Amino acid sequence: MARVALLMGGNEGDMKRTLQTAQRLINERVGAVMRCSHRYQTEAWGFKSTQPFTNQALEISTDLQPLAVLDAIQQIEVELGRNRAAEQIEKAATGARYSSRPIDIDIIFYGSESIDEERLQVPHPLLAEREFALQPLAEIMRSFRHPALGKSVGEMLEEVRITTVEQA
Ligand code: ATP
Ligand code: CA
Ligand code: CA
Repeated sequence: MARVALLMGGNEGDMKRTLQTAQRLINERVGAVMRCSHRYQTEAWGFKSTQPFTNQALEISTDLQPLAVLDAIQQIEVELGRNRAAEQIEKAATGARYSSRPIDIDIIFYGSESIDEERLQVPHPLLAEREFALQPLAEIMRSFRHPALGKSVGEMLEEVRITTVEQA
């Protein structure tokens, strides 16, 4: 059994409904949902969008190996309307690295494992830079320590907030 932290997000369609459905499917297919944060709304990160993002963090308990978790969450993304081909077209048109999407599910932590494979890097490499991920995560696992950085989620959140203010 592994404790896994997931971050769900999206900025298209009825996000409350999509996140509820995603959580139900995760609970059925990936692992029992132990904790879930509130939904947080933030502006798009890494590209311009008029539609804000809604994010929510989950902690699950699973028997699946990391790549099997990835397969399952990518399948759920597709079922909930994610269309990577359409995103490629939008990214090519805007030149941005990210685009609007109805649902994105990332693996943030898989226990205290560090994974660096082509398809999967865990902990998520950009976590320390993302207040939109750290804030919901801090609600459900504030004292959990990042296995490589040695900092707790709460400490990382404080640091990213300070950096964000300095850049403003
Ligand atoms: P970002 O990773 O910067 O948040 P993204 O979520 O928009 O970007 P996607 O297009 O959803 O990126 O996924 C691209 C690929 O990232 C996936 O096909 C998957 O193989 C890979 N990937 C690597 N590490 C992870 C992870 N920790 N969680 C989910 N996907 C990952
Ligand atoms: Ca993501
Ligand atoms: Ca993703």
